Parts: sequence; structure tokens; C-alpha cells
Amino acid sequence: MSAPANSDRLANRILIGLVAGVVAGVLIRTVAHGNEAWMQQLRWVATQALDPFGQVFLRLLFFAVVPLVFSSLMLGVVQLGRLDLLGPMAARTFGLFVLNMSVAVALGLLVMNTFIPGDGIDGATRDALLDQFQSEAQEKAEVAKTLPTLSFAYLVELFMPRNLLRAVVDFQILPLILFAILLGAAGTQLAGDQRVRVQSALEIATTLATRLVNFALKLAPYAVPAMIVSVCIKAGASVLQSLAVFVALCLAAMLVHLFGTMSVLLKLFTRIPPGKFFRAVRAIIVTAFSTSSSNATLPTTIQITRDKLGVSNSTASFVLPLGATMNMSGTALYEGCVVLFLAQVYGVQLALGQQVLLLILTVLSAVAVAGVPGASLPLIVGLLANFGVPAEGIALIIGVDRILDMARTVLNVSADAVTAVIVDEWTRPATEALSDGP
Ligand code: ASP
Repeated sequence: MSAPANSDRLANRILIGLVAGVVAGVLIRTVAHGNEAWMQQLRWVATQALDPFGQVFLRLLFFAVVPLVFSSLMLGVVQLGRLDLLGPMAARTFGLFVLNMSVAVALGLLVMNTFIPGDGIDGATRDALLDQFQSEAQEKAEVAKTLPTLSFAYLVELFMPRNLLRAVVDFQILPLILFAILLGAAGTQLAGDQRVRVQSALEIATTLATRLVNFALKLAPYAVPAMIVSVCIKAGASVLQSLAVFVALCLAAMLVHLFGTMSVLLKLFTRIPPGKFFRAVRAIIVTAFSTSSSNATLPTTIQITRDKLGVSNSTASFVLPLGATMNMSGTALYEGCVVLFLAQVYGVQLALGQQVLLLILTVLSAVAVAGVPGASLPLIVGLLANFGVPAEGIALIIGVDRILDMARTVLNVSADAVTAVIVDEWTRPATEALSDGP
């Protein structure tokens, strides 16, 4: 009880910080408008005090990226353990995970491409922002230009660079993801007691990295207003208007995915009418929304899918824990939207080929996101760097992240329940045999 209560309090304080930052930023900007001497001093305060403070928060998140991705993903794979026995069920489960996440990202990208919320920022504001990150933005834009179109050779280069460590140092998360999966697969072949030891070491590493994210989140109620005020001073409040449009568009895409895509999947692959499904999973939705954590929702998800949707025990206990760590369709949708939105804000053009690559990378990185509040933020930083968008841009969306975290977690766990229902219908005889045990 105390963890959700604490995280609720924290969420409220971040929201209050966000509102206070917006109000203070708009006020300061309005009062100083037209007075160049004041504006100069304000810019000095923003650069010398507010920005470095914001950086403390952001860099704490950056610290967590590599250990978190590595340990949580390798743990997920090692936990599979009996991969050979569970082969057919695993293949179907992963297939549905990938399908669900890909459709989610495609939907998000479609909405962002259609309404282009990042373009809502006027030229002067964008120039101010670009000015602020000029050298980095230029450097990244150069990198983006050299990104080749999608090809087999490029994918090999992307996932398997000659020097893994250098890639990781450069914040390229994909080789790390592949490395963690491969090492995890090797871990499943260890003898029983060795596997248990590896598993518990990885559990500890994941917990530590998650605590680091929690330290960062404790700073958020102060860092968020500092960053918002700084953005207002440097760039003006029109950033905030387009932020509101961004939130509304993300929520709209999430709603379409929740009630549209999931209903289609249920209709195509199960005998459960979508209306009945959504009535049954109400408790799952409420828990996910209020905790912003797939992991915290997992006990409810297992109970409801078994008791109200009739999913077998063995399917539920295989698909749902895996889904809580790997199947993140709301997160994938959100990550794609953030990258495209910030690319629009910074004037970085992402052609169709690059957006296809974005879809693939987003799905892969969503798999690496842990089922805890705010877990996707560090991964988004890695994605931004991959597409030549200034990583500091994440400061723009951090204030609204919690609201969208609540919404995306609902999508994440609902997709797990849908997957469990479908896999159960497809594999029931096999899983029944399996649960009888070897
Ligand atoms: N809070 C999300 C979850 O637990 C993960 C994220 O996208 O931050 O499912």
C-alpha cells in the first residue's frame, strides 16, 4: 500500500511543480517582455542556475540507462528458463507482442505526422531553442544526414558494431539490447543453481538501477519547474501550447489503440466480444492508471485474466509476467511520438525510411523498458541520440510525462491481457500438457 501512496504523492508534487513552473515562467516572461536588460539577466539565471540544476536530474536518469537496460532485459530472458519446452507458446507470445507494439507505434507516428504538433512553435521560438543547443543540434543533424537508409548491412552495423563497449559509451542502446538478449539466452542453458544465482544477481542489479531512477524522480518536483521556467525565459510560452497539443494527440492515439486495435485483435483471434473484455479488465485499467506500473498491476492482471476471462493458469503465468516486462505497446507508442515531436520542435527532418527505422528501434527499446513509473524516459534519451535530436529536448516533455505514463501503462497491461487471451485460445491443449509437468 505504501509504495503506490508514496508514488501518488510524488506524482502530485511533480504535477504541482509543473503547474507552478508554467505559471512562474509565463509571469516572468510577461513582466520582462520588451525589457532587454531584464531579459539578459533572466537568461543568465536560466543558464547558470536553472539549467545546471535540471541537468543534475537528467544526468541521474542518464546514469541509469546502461545498467537498467542490460540487467532488466537479460533477467527477462534468463527467466524464460524452459524456452525449449515453451517454444511454440513463446513464439506466438513474442509474435503478438511485436505486432501489438508495431501497430501502436505506427498509429502514434501517423497522428504526429498528420497534426505536426512540434511545428506549432513559431520560428523565433524554435530559433531560440536551436540557438540554445546550436552546436549539439548541428552535430546531431550532421549525424542524422549520414544515417543510411534501412538495409541488411546497416542493421548488422547497428546491432553488432565492431566495438561493443565504444557503442555503449556513445549511448547506442541497440547493441546493448542484443548483447543482453544473447547473454540471457546463454544464461537459460546454465545448470539450475548457476542460473538461479545469475538470476538473483540480475534482480539486484535491476533493483539498484531502478532506485537510481527513483532518486532522480525525487528531484523531479523541483527540477521540472526549474527546467520549465528556463524554457519559458529562453524560448517563450508558445512551447507550452504545443506541449498541450502534443499531450492531447498522444492520448487520442492511445485511445484509438486501446479500443480500436485491441478490439480488432480480440475479434480476429478470440471468441470473447470486446465489450465483455473491457468490462472484465476494468480493475486492471484502474490499477494501471493509478500506479503507472505494469509490475505493480501484475497481480491484478493475473487474477482478472484467470478468473474473469477464463485464461488457463499456465498461459497466464507465462504470458503475463513476460508481458509486464517486455510487452509495452503504450510505451512504444509514446516513445515514437516523443521522438517525432521533438524532431519537429528542433527542425530535424525524419524521412519515411528513418521513420520505419524509428518504428523498429522504438519497439526494441520498449521491450527494454521496466514496468515501473517513468521507466521509458532514459530509453527515450538513447532514441533521441540515434536520430540526431538534442537529448536535452526530453526536458520539454518531462513535466507532462506522468499523465502520459498513467495512460501508456493502461495500454501496456491491457495488451498483456489481450495477448494472454489469444495465446490461451491458440495453445490450450499444449499448455495443459505442459502444466501436467515432465
Ligand atoms: N510506467 C510504464 C509501465 O510500467 C513504463 C514506462 O513507459 O515508463 O508499464
